[in-house]
Amino acid sequence: MRLLIVEDEKRMAELLKIGLEEENHTVSLAFDGRSALEHARMCEFDAIVLDVMLPGMDGIEVARRIRRSQSQTPILMLTARDAVPDIVKGLDAGADDYLTKPFSFEEFLARLRAVARRGSVPRPTCLQVADLMLDPATRRVTRSGEEIYLSPTEFRLLEFLMRRAGRVVSRSAIIQAVWDLDQEVEENTLDAFIRLVRSKVDRDRSQKLIHTVRGIGYTIREK
Ligand code: CA
Repeated sequence: MRLLIVEDEKRMAELLKIGLEEENHTVSLAFDGRSALEHARMCEFDAIVLDVMLPGMDGIEVARRIRRSQSQTPILMLTARDAVPDIVKGLDAGADDYLTKPFSFEEFLARLRAVARRGSVPRPTCLQVADLMLDPATRRVTRSGEEIYLSPTEFRLLEFLMRRAGRVVSRSAIIQAVWDLDQEVEENTLDAFIRLVRSKVDRDRSQKLIHTVRGIGYTIREK
C-alpha cells in the first residue's frame, strides 16, 4: 500500500514508517497539517494515518479538508487515550476509524489494513464527464457511446484527470501520479501525452473537455 503518515512527533512517525516499510509498504511522512494536505492533493494514497494533535491545523481540520476535496482516501485517526470528544469530532470530520495511543504495532497494522480494505469499496465504478465515460474496472473509455482506445499511460492520465473532474490539477501532480515517482519525466513528455489523449477524446467534437490552465496544469470539465 501507499501510505501517508501525519504526525508531528518525528520519532513516532519514523518508527511507524520503518515498521510499515518492513511490511513492504511505501510511506510518506508529513509533520504538520498543511504539508499533509499538500501530500494528499499531490498523490493518491491507499490510506492516511492522521494524528489529531498537530501544531497549527489539527488532524480534525485536516480530515475535514481532505473530505471537502472529494477525496475518499481512507483515514485512520490517532488520538490520545480517552479523548472521546476528539474521537467523535474526528469521525464526524470524515475519519474512517481511530486508534488510541499508546498502541502496539500489530494492532496499528491490523486497523490500517481494515480501514484501507473498507475504503476501497465505495469508489465509483464508472467515471463520467459530459458524454465521456471511463470504467476503471473494464478499462473501457467511450464518448457518446463510441469506443476510445488508449494506451496504458494515456488511460492512467485520463483516469487521473476524471477522478478530479472540475478541479485544476498541477503538472507535477499529474507527473507524480501517472508515472513512477522515481522515474524522471520531462514536462515535454506530459505535453505529448496530453496531446495524444486530447486527439482521441476531443478531436472533431464541438464540446472540448480537456482544458489547459496556463501556468498551472490541466483540468477536465464540461465547460
Ligand atoms: Ca502529535
